[in-house]
Amino acid sequence: MNELKHVPIRTCIGCGIKRPQKEFVKLVKTKENLITINSNDNKRKLEGRSVYICKSYECWTNTIKKEKIERNMKSTLSKNDKDIICDYMFKYRL
Ligand SMILES: [Zn+2]
Repeated sequence: MNELKHVPIRTCIGCGIKRPQKEFVKLVKTKENLITINSNDNKRKLEGRSVYICKSYECWTNTIKKEKIERNMKSTLSKNDKDIICDYMFKYRL
């Protein structure tokens, strides 16, 4: 509505590009140690470490291959976390 509203800028951990937050997919590792993807519809603010990735297959494969998610979240990803991430990533593979 208001074009002058402050737009939060985030950086993709895959390619390093900066864009408005809403153009990214957000991954959050919650306190419960669960990976949550793009819960923008969730009004409750998720607490935990978050990273942003472009809506691009290339950026997703890049972050996974180079273990950037782990490094940026400063935690290890479980097999289940990786499955969630890979399932999501494949949506971008065309
Ligand atoms: Zn990117």
